[in-house]
Amino acid sequence: MPRTDAVLGDPRLAAFPRDRARAVVREELDRVRRGELAPDAVAEAALHRLNSENGMRPVLNATGVVLHTNLGRAALSGAAVEAVARAAGHTDVELDLETGRRARRGRTAMRALAEAVPAAGAVHVVNNGAAALVLAATVLAAGKEIVVSRGELVEIGDGFRLPDLLVSTGARLREVGTTNRTSPADYQAAIGPQTGFLLKVHPSNFYQRGFVSAVPVERLAGLGVPLVVDIGSGLLDADPLLPDEPDASAVLRAGADLVTSSGDKLLGGPQAGLLLGRADLVESLRRHPLARALRVDKLTLAALEATLLARDTPTWRALRADAADLRRRAEAVRASLGGLSAEVVDTVAVVGGGGAPEVELPSAALALPAGLAAPLRLGDPPVLGRVERDRLLLDLRCVPEEQDKTVAAAVLRAAGG
Ligand SMILES: *Cc1c(COP(=O)(O)O)cnc(C)c1O
Repeated sequence: MPRTDAVLGDPRLAAFPRDRARAVVREELDRVRRGELAPDAVAEAALHRLNSENGMRPVLNATGVVLHTNLGRAALSGAAVEAVARAAGHTDVELDLETGRRARRGRTAMRALAEAVPAAGAVHVVNNGAAALVLAATVLAAGKEIVVSRGELVEIGDGFRLPDLLVSTGARLREVGTTNRTSPADYQAAIGPQTGFLLKVHPSNFYQRGFVSAVPVERLAGLGVPLVVDIGSGLLDADPLLPDEPDASAVLRAGADLVTSSGDKLLGGPQAGLLLGRADLVESLRRHPLARALRVDKLTLAALEATLLARDTPTWRALRADAADLRRRAEAVRASLGGLSAEVVDTVAVVGGGGAPEVELPSAALALPAGLAAPLRLGDPPVLGRVERDRLLLDLRCVPEEQDKTVAAAVLRAAGG
C-alpha cells in the first residue's frame, strides 16, 4: 500500500491545492483497500479526479442557512433546471415563430411575471437586484436627488453599499431622518424640483428594535414624485411564515410606483433583478441604453419562468421543513455511522443574507467533532456544515432527502481519513 505522502510527491499533483490533493489521494487509497484500484494506479486516478474538478463544484448545504450567498443563494427547482437545459441551444427567445419577426425578448417569462403580480402595470427583468436599482436611479434621478431615510442606507455584502451604488449613477442622495427614526414630515420637507424619486429600502439583512420608527409605503405614496421600493427578497405575495418581509403585490397596492427585488432570494429562482410597476416608468427603464447592458441571458429567462410557474422551489421547501422530520432524518444518518461520536441536537436555522433576519426556523442537526469540518469540506461532494461551540453541526434542511445517504457516506469517509 503506497503512503499518502509518497503519492503526493508525484510532481503532477503539485499543481493542485494541497489539502484537496491529500483528501483525493486518501479516497483513492481507500479504493485500493477495497480492491477497486491497483496500488500503482493511485497517483493517476487522483490526477484524473483533480483534473475533472475544474470549475464550480456542486456542494451539499448542511449549514442550516437557506439562502447562503457563498453557496449561490437559491438552488433552482427541478423544473427550472430542465428549462435551463432546454434553453441552452438555439431558442425563440427573441423571435415570433408565427410571423418570423423579432419579438420582445423573453416574452413568455415576462408574461409569467406579469401574471404572478397583477398589481404591476408592467414588468422588466435585469441582471440582479443591484442592477434594477442602478437602472431606476439612472433613468429617474441622474442629475437629481433620491430622497432616502438614513435608516435605510444598507450595505448588501462583500463591502458593496447601496448608497455608493446609487451615487455611481450620477444621482445625489438626499438623506432624511435619522438612523432609528424617520417621519413623513422628513420626506415631505425634502421634496422639491430637484427630486427624482423617493426611495424606500427594506433592511433585508438586519433589523432594528427599540426607539425606532419608519414611514410605511402608504404614507409615501401620492406625494407627487415617484415612489420606488426596494423590497430586496423577491416575495411576490405575502407569506405567513415571513410576516415582516414586504411582498411586491402588497407594496404596489399600497401605492409604490416601482418595486425592485432579487430573483434568487425568497422567490427561489435564478439571479435576476425584477422591476415591477407603473407601465410608463417600466417602459422608460426598458428603453434606456443602460438596459441593454443589464439585460439577462436566455438561461435566466428560462429558469425564472419555470420558477414562477411552479413555486414549490427548494427554497420554499427548505423554509417549511418540519423540525421533527429533520430530526428523524438526522437520526437515520446517525444510526448509519456505527460507533462514531455523533448526536442529534435541536438547533435554529436561518433564512440567510436573502432576508428575514429576525426569523428563527426550529431545526435539528447532527453534531459531530469540529475536526471533521475540513475533511468534509474537502471531500467529494463537499459537505458544508457550521461550527458552533466546538461542534460541527450538519442541518439537513437544505439537503435533498435523497442525498442523506451521501452525507452519511461523506461523514464516514471524513472520519476514516
Ligand atoms: C439583496 C438586496 C439587494 C441586492 O440584490 P442583488 O440581487 O444581490 O443584486 C438590494 N437591496 C436589498 C434590500 C437587498 O436585500
